[in-house]
Amino acid sequence: MIDCIKCKNPITVHESHDTAEGNVCARCKIAELEADNDALQSQLDEHESSCGWSLEDEDWTAYRTDCGHLFEFNDGGPVENKCKFCMYCGKPISLPTDEPKEGK
Ligand SMILES: [Zn+2]
Ligand SMILES: [Zn+2]
Repeated sequence: MIDCIKCKNPITVHESHDTAEGNVCARCKIAELEADNDALQSQLDEHESSCGWSLEDEDWTAYRTDCGHLFEFNDGGPVENKCKFCMYCGKPISLPTDEPKEGK
C-alpha cells in the first residue's frame, strides 16, 4: 500500500499519480490541476482586460479613459484614427456600445 504524499491517505496503485515529489491520490492530483487552471485563468483575464473609453464631450471628441486620462482627437474618434490600444496603459481600447438599436 502507498500513502499519498499530500493527504497521507492510503491509495491503490491504480489511482496513484507519480509526481516529481512522489505518489499522490487522484483527488489531490485533481486539486493540483484545478489550482493550475485558476492561475492560468487569472493570467488570461489580465491579458484580456481592456481600457474603457467614454466620450467626454461629443463636440470636442475628447475621451475619458479608464486609466484616468483625457485624450482629445483632432479629427474623428478612436475608430477613425485606427486607435486599437490605449496609449497610456497599453490595453485594448473598449468603446461604449451605445449605438442606437433598431426597432423590432
Ligand atoms: Zn491525496
Ligand atoms: Zn488606458
